[in-house]
Amino acid sequence: MTAPASTSQDFASLSLTPAALANLKLLGYEQMTPIQAASLPIALLGKDLIAQAKTGSGKTAAFALALLSNLNARRFAVQSLVLCPTRELADQVTQEIRRLARAEENIKVVTLCGGVAMRGQIASLEHGAHIVVGTPGRIMDHLQRGYLKLDALNTLVLDEADRMLDMGFFDDIAVVARQCPTERQTLLFSATYPEGIAKISQQFMRQPQTVTVAAQHDSNKIRQRWYQVRESERLHAVSAVLNHYRPASTLAFCNTKVQCRELVQVLKAQGFSALALYGELEQRERDQVLVQFSNRSCSVLVATDVAARGLDISQLEMVINVDVTPDAEVHIHRIGRTGRADEEGWAISLASMNEMGSVGKIEQLQKIESEWHKLEELTPASKEPLVPPMVTLQIVGGRKEKIRAGDVLGALTGDAGFTREQVGKINVNEFSTYVALDRSIANEALQKLTVGKVKGKSVRVRLLDDESLA
Ligand code: AMP
Repeated sequence: MTAPASTSQDFASLSLTPAALANLKLLGYEQMTPIQAASLPIALLGKDLIAQAKTGSGKTAAFALALLSNLNARRFAVQSLVLCPTRELADQVTQEIRRLARAEENIKVVTLCGGVAMRGQIASLEHGAHIVVGTPGRIMDHLQRGYLKLDALNTLVLDEADRMLDMGFFDDIAVVARQCPTERQTLLFSATYPEGIAKISQQFMRQPQTVTVAAQHDSNKIRQRWYQVRESERLHAVSAVLNHYRPASTLAFCNTKVQCRELVQVLKAQGFSALALYGELEQRERDQVLVQFSNRSCSVLVATDVAARGLDISQLEMVINVDVTPDAEVHIHRIGRTGRADEEGWAISLASMNEMGSVGKIEQLQKIESEWHKLEELTPASKEPLVPPMVTLQIVGGRKEKIRAGDVLGALTGDAGFTREQVGKINVNEFSTYVALDRSIANEALQKLTVGKVKGKSVRVRLLDDESLA
């Protein structure tokens, strides 16, 4: 059954508490996004829902407001569970739920993902959690060992369900869903509808309503251009695009992991700062790649669709489709990562004769004709190489050593004498801290921190991409 989209965009038209509405104002959420306007009236009635939505659409708030309205803060038991495909997404979802939960009294949200020690997670659960967000494998672990109990659960959310299926999580989702009370609300969010979604809905949902918002982007914000290439030209065409448009941050999509690796080699050989993100990286490597890209010390992130899922990186000037995807919905999803909010973005696609069938499918879905350009038009806009504005400095030591972002900022702006503006994003992970530094001060900051102190202690530091600093 498909529900008609709601007409009102105003949060006040929903049955939310005055405190929740005031908090939304504080967060600067003036109006509902289309997916929120379509989903929330149904979800707030307690109905099961399948919603088509991608990262950046405001989908997290669409389910978070619903699960918060089902929650009784005085009841110390897990009442909502959100399953996500990746740890990055789980972290983002947790943050958004915490922001939205500020309106209520003390609501505890716990993240349970793989790649992190169980002990801390067990302790957090023992302290009491109202909402759990996590990846299916680790949630199963906690269920099987008896640390997590779901008998008081009233809302189950499957976020980015298509990606969870891609990653082979169907059986884990099934095990988790069977442990939830049958009297519950299930909300499923997915960018695309592969077959497995119907299977989940038949087995684990009760007469779900389906909402979709048009898979179109604001075409004024995303400028799309296509270049026809021969296979032999494809990878070099990427560097020609980068030299011509000179975007500070680019996400380049390849269809295979092998292509990702080859492209990174070609780009590095030409002096670009590029990193690859694909399924088989260890968690620590993945974290480092993401930190460097999101803090602007790497110009190009080369990724497969599966690996890029769940990333929410703002300030992305360009998306390059190095290979055309055979799935038109995936194309829409890829290019939607640029041109967010008030910014404009470029979506550049390279297509060979063999891919014209896929290009046709994309044109049909987008209902716009492709704008074709010639490779010869791509001329370098500058003689200078394209270098990222920042450099990442790694400090050995993180949350385990009780390092906080403020300590690092203090060390750099205090004794070392740098300004706040010369220091970028600071990420404190469990065992490491990553600081983005203005490229011009990176070497000096390295020297000063090597002999200096953070939080009164000597620390080991290194620059993550020292090759490009020479
Ligand atoms: P999401 O698709 O859930 O990853 O959300 C994308 C971004 O939009 C997040 O940074 C949210 O905080 C923000 N957001 C969600 N809903 C709204 C809204 N109604 N108005 C403004 N920003 C929003």
